Amino acid sequence: MNNIFTTNKILQRSDKENLLNQKGIAVWLTGLSGAGKTTIAVALEKTLHSKGKLTQVLDGDNIRAGINNNLGFSEEDRIENIRRIAEIAKLFVNNGIITICCFISPTEKMRSLAKDIIGKKDFVEVYINTPLEICEKRDVKGLYAKARKGEIKDFTGIDSPFEEPKNASLNLKTSEMSVEESVAEILRYINRIKK
Ligand code: ADP
Repeated sequence: MNNIFTTNKILQRSDKENLLNQKGIAVWLTGLSGAGKTTIAVALEKTLHSKGKLTQVLDGDNIRAGINNNLGFSEEDRIENIRRIAEIAKLFVNNGIITICCFISPTEKMRSLAKDIIGKKDFVEVYINTPLEICEKRDVKGLYAKARKGEIKDFTGIDSPFEEPKNASLNLKTSEMSVEESVAEILRYINRIKK
């Protein structure tokens, strides 16, 4: 076996993956606000962590508050938001980290942009499929009420479209499944493809 210190070659992804004893992958959760993306991501991360796997959750809060704090919600800014997120996710994935991305990513264009940047074989699209009525009833952050009153414009599902994912690897109906069941489905899927 080559000693990594005897060559100038930059460490490879496989070196990182061997160190961590895991494969890097991006799990891309798409769905309406309140669908359950963050809830499922947190539970998924805890489960993986307890199995000794290194993970990173990327979500609207940690991204929009930091690297993307100069972006708004115009079509152009939403695309740029996703482009940067995908580039960041790719860095993590190339370090062997299981990267769980929670973004509404409402259009096919945005999701395929993310897939193209991250790379098809490292990208698992998971549709957190919760009907608008249920998301609105949950109204976790009170955003739907504000959107209905016109206090927030271009809110996805209300006055901005959400295109149903056609190419998702998994379609999780949270109105029929517990958080634990959703996590189990995702784990089953990624374990199968990353053997
Ligand atoms: P998002 O990140 O998609 O905006 P959140 O995870 O912040 O959504 O909010 C989803 C809300 O729905 C949470 O309050 C969560 O407890 C609740 N919820 C109820 N049932 C489920 C379920 N089966 N799966 C995921 N979330 C659920």
